Amino acid sequence: MKDYTDNMHAALFESQKSNQFKVGNTSYKARVKKLNALKKALEVDFKQEIREALYKDFRKPHLETDLTEIYPVIDEIKFVKGQLKSWLGRQKVDTPIALLGSSSWIKNEPKGVCLIISPWNFPINLTLGPLVSAIAAGNTVIIKPSEMTPNASNVMSKMITAIFNTDEVALVQGEVETSTELLKLPFNHIFFTGSPQVGKIVMKAASKHLSSVTLELGGKSPVIVDDTADIARAVKRIIFGKFVNCGQTCIAPDYVFVHQSVKDTFLKTFKESLTEHYGSNPSTSESYARIVNQKHFKRLSGYLDDAKVRNLEIVHGGASEEKQNYIEPTLVLDPTDDSDLMQNEIFGPILPIKSFSKLEDVASYINEREKPLALYMFSKHKKNVQFMINNTRAGGTCINHNLLQYLNHNLPFGGSNHSGIGKSHGYFGFLEFTNQRSILKQHTFGAVDLLTPPYTSFKQKLVDLTLKWF
Ligand code: NAD
Repeated sequence: MKDYTDNMHAALFESQKSNQFKVGNTSYKARVKKLNALKKALEVDFKQEIREALYKDFRKPHLETDLTEIYPVIDEIKFVKGQLKSWLGRQKVDTPIALLGSSSWIKNEPKGVCLIISPWNFPINLTLGPLVSAIAAGNTVIIKPSEMTPNASNVMSKMITAIFNTDEVALVQGEVETSTELLKLPFNHIFFTGSPQVGKIVMKAASKHLSSVTLELGGKSPVIVDDTADIARAVKRIIFGKFVNCGQTCIAPDYVFVHQSVKDTFLKTFKESLTEHYGSNPSTSESYARIVNQKHFKRLSGYLDDAKVRNLEIVHGGASEEKQNYIEPTLVLDPTDDSDLMQNEIFGPILPIKSFSKLEDVASYINEREKPLALYMFSKHKKNVQFMINNTRAGGTCINHNLLQYLNHNLPFGGSNHSGIGKSHGYFGFLEFTNQRSILKQHTFGAVDLLTPPYTSFKQKLVDLTLKWF
């Protein structure tokens, strides 16, 4: 029985629901055709429009758009195309002796009608990436992209309209009210990427219909640089991980723990390297993006004001320009735990730096807080690396680099508890949109047939033997 309001979104939902078996029964070839159409749209038809849209949205450099928006989705499509045939085939499983006379397999069937709600920080990648998994698994999909990057949403809307009928994939634009309306519908799966706060709202709404959820959330991802690390290399890599997309990356280093014996070298190298990357005035660099909007500019400026009130040492940067939503790459030394910078996910180009002498203290610090989405470590000391891996919890980890764990489609991507529920990418993403249906087929003879009532002593002996031997 339907208990949701009869509105435009409900009508769209109903049309997809009616179409779900047609879409769900499409062949491997038909799905590959759709993925190819999406790939061509990204690679050729809309590539320049996507670049321009993101430049308009937050002055994202074209190269960063190619590398972090277009390439990961194309790569996901290539990976999925190479594997999909085997994922869609019967996944045969062994039969225990007690079930002699039967055979069993898993059918990877689509969940049905799915909702993808995406954020603004990588608007193309984090909308179309999950869409690849959903299409591969044979679902119909309603997409709600972020209202904060309207130009990116408009291009995606054109792409989706050009490739799909709305009863298969539809993109709905709107603000929180639109999400709220959509979340009232009984979707078979909801794939949400965004903040932990909104993740809780999504999970609550999903519980009404027991819709399954994937929650790709955020949090504070630490970087540990120990006394054996190659400092110059670590700094260069952290600068890339932290300041690409102007720090607005869910798996960006949020703060650094550097061993106190190498702290001075680390800071000196960091400052010099920042100037090499972005010049002495990063506001004129074409390689540096902007904060997405005034709301987030004010949030980050507030963190810096709080740091100043607390007399924290801003050892590099700190400049900003409100009209442009520009904040300079900024390093803040020894932030106090109660400062805004350490109480919130930063999600911007400000990097607090703490120092440590014992790795045990770093592990305790991390474990006293919510599980991070990513944990990074720069070290040449195997035992130190192993210690951190064994004594902390995180969605993912990258050793001697950062962000790159996202790009290997053989790895599941996602958080744990506060940083997320469920995984994306490759087979893991496909499974999120899939019901692994168990199928057992009984052939002519079944051992269990011997054990039906009436329960005689002979049958009891058979059960005794089964308990003992099988
Ligand atoms: P957000 O949670 O504010 O918004 C995400 C989406 O939810 C948007 O489409 C928005 O319209 C919608 N939304 C916002 N408020 C809502 C509400 N009350 N009810 C229903 N829907 C609502 O997140 P954001 O600001 O777009 O993105 C930043 C956050 O996302 C950060 O926390 C970041 O770490 C996280 N993130 C995580 C990943 C990941 O893969 N784990 C990737 C990117 C961003």
